[in-house]
Amino acid sequence: MQEAKTLKGYRHEVGRALANDFLREAMDKFAVAYRESRARAFAEMDIDALVADVSTAKDQALHRLDHLYSQFKHNAEAMGVKVHLAATADAANRIIADIARDNGVRTVIKSKSMTAEETLLNHHLEHEGLTVTETDLGEWIIQLRHEGPSHMVMPAIHLSRHQVADLFTQVTGQHQDSEIQRLVKVARRELRQKFAQADMGISGANFAIADTGTIGLVTNEGNARLVTTLPRVHVALVGLDKLLPGLLDALKILRVLPRNATGQAITSYVTWITGPAEYHPSETGTAKQMHIVFLDNGRRALAGDPIFSQVLRCVRCGACANVCPVYRMVGGHQYGHIYIGAIGLIVTYFFHGREKARNLVQNCINCGACKAVCAAGIDLPQLIKEVHARIQDEEGHPLQSTMLATVLKNRRLFHTLLRSAQLAQRPVTGGTAYLRHLPHIFSKQHNFRALPAIAERPFRDRWPALRYRVAQPRCKVALFSGCVQDFVYPEQLEAGLRLLSAHGVDVDFPMEQSCCGLPVAMMGENKAARDVARQNVAAIDPDRFDYIVTLCASCASHLRHAYPRLLGDESDVGPKAEKFAAKVQPLSVLLHHILAIDYAAFSAGGETTTYHAPCHLCRGMDEHTAPKALMATAGYGFIPAAEEETCCGFGGTYSAKFPEISAEILTTKLSDIDATGARLLVTECPGCVMQLRGGARQRGMKIRVAHLAEALAERLKI
Ligand code: SF4
Ligand code: SF4
Repeated sequence: MQEAKTLKGYRHEVGRALANDFLREAMDKFAVAYRESRARAFAEMDIDALVADVSTAKDQALHRLDHLYSQFKHNAEAMGVKVHLAATADAANRIIADIARDNGVRTVIKSKSMTAEETLLNHHLEHEGLTVTETDLGEWIIQLRHEGPSHMVMPAIHLSRHQVADLFTQVTGQHQDSEIQRLVKVARRELRQKFAQADMGISGANFAIADTGTIGLVTNEGNARLVTTLPRVHVALVGLDKLLPGLLDALKILRVLPRNATGQAITSYVTWITGPAEYHPSETGTAKQMHIVFLDNGRRALAGDPIFSQVLRCVRCGACANVCPVYRMVGGHQYGHIYIGAIGLIVTYFFHGREKARNLVQNCINCGACKAVCAAGIDLPQLIKEVHARIQDEEGHPLQSTMLATVLKNRRLFHTLLRSAQLAQRPVTGGTAYLRHLPHIFSKQHNFRALPAIAERPFRDRWPALRYRVAQPRCKVALFSGCVQDFVYPEQLEAGLRLLSAHGVDVDFPMEQSCCGLPVAMMGENKAARDVARQNVAAIDPDRFDYIVTLCASCASHLRHAYPRLLGDESDVGPKAEKFAAKVQPLSVLLHHILAIDYAAFSAGGETTTYHAPCHLCRGMDEHTAPKALMATAGYGFIPAAEEETCCGFGGTYSAKFPEISAEILTTKLSDIDATGARLLVTECPGCVMQLRGGARQRGMKIRVAHLAEALAERLKI
């Protein structure tokens, strides 16, 4: 459970997690295995259509939560269940404690429930003098260790079998072998008595079906069936967001949930409970009782929020953590408060308050991997940025981000500062293209990659001499540079120009353009992001061009997706921003899919290459093939790297804020690249070039790192 008060304290705890070798190894293995098993589980299925089914079903239910609750209550109570509604976590805990007291309960068994974790139910019941035993194996282990879960589906994923054997040795007072099957037997033996003796069973629920008053549980261990049937009282604690109109809606979710969670077509047990289970009053003199406690805790308000209501679509599959490069490095105790992963970063703010969320929401690299696998189609990276912005609006904006926002909003000031920095950097470059030692504003933790120097002449100063005319152009494009290529890597843009000119494309470089605005959006500065977007939409008139082309994947994704959102409801620029965004294309898409360039323009026989897919190209722009196809067109041999579409750890301002994590992600990426034996690494984003080239240089790797435009241009015949 992450509770650091300051960002510094949080970074310290993250550093400790990074130093945990077992955690790192376990997370690496799991990340690779998960991706493969998920792909197998969804083979030959239309995932997008399944996810759309889930999000539609959940959205429709969220619009009428109150009605569904009343319908559920009516139907469930007709079956002999008592239905309660708790406004807050405390209220839910009190209701359950009261039920226990009224029924003379002393011992409680529980099956896994994130909602009960949310309310800290165990603490409350133990405080009331009850003995509570978790019966899900992972939950039991972390209960014995007095820890919270580190994953929503696999709560003890951070522990080795040896640690579990030591723990079981302590609990049983007998030496326990670390062989997994034996450990499972120990748990079964220890827990069996608890099942037999418990007075009350507490479960969660994955679904609450309004038209029958049924709850559904999706589990793998079978313990939930014992919890809900054996004791004389069963209480289900259920978030209001689990309400659905009918069974068919639940079945739509069931097609996706286990496949997305664990790569299983279906879990071992899917249990539907309508009314109290059969019981034998003759043994106790009382009938079985069943209570369902619905938890609001901000859900009804959230359901009406135009931006955030989508978080209630979440089906708690945990996939957003499984694919997250940051979670993979630091584990769940540092990547969530109670709820883990991308969704945890967001709901922590709503369920547990901004104190708990403040540091967490800054630890997102914006790679989009979570959004790409979300079972409910939630735009998680965008919502994380929105929570960050909201917290800053509520608490005041930190000086650093306010200063960056002020500078980026003013193009002339920004460019003047970059030109001054170019002059000021001379003592630390020693005439090379790199900063040989880092200025004082950087700590030694930033030393994991060599940082490039600002170029002597930015692209915009070179443009008048580079401009060319095409008599009968195939198309007319505006070149959008982004600030990194304009001021740090102008040679990448020059290479792009050579390619475009060789293929009959008329290019203009509108001089009033500036940074795309992604850095300020990443820092929670929504207003500045809007101002910068306005500036660029004013600088580039989409009516004058067939395409707005950029060599930066991050710019492409931000211009395409964020500009309509940022400016859409401003009547003066909204329609123009839509048109602008629709014309944005990455260079590779223009060359491969639109112009369909062929090998005639290139010399044969390039060196062996491998490829890193920028997050904002493969996920942001959904482009997976064009750069590799172009490399083949230009005569390069290709060796694929493992995890080609996994983040390199750059993330713009992220790598400055969390250099330790950025460095670790980069190390994994460079190992995969090194294993290919390729001589040239190609990518299509200047940020990735900066990270990979700087990292390779710092590690003394022989591989050359180039932007796609440079790699293609150097094979041009003319
Ligand atoms: S965008 Fe990437 S880093 Fe951020 S939460 Fe999602 S997967 Fe993790
Ligand atoms: S946000 Fe999406 S991926 Fe994450 S747990 Fe919820 S449904 Fe699964």
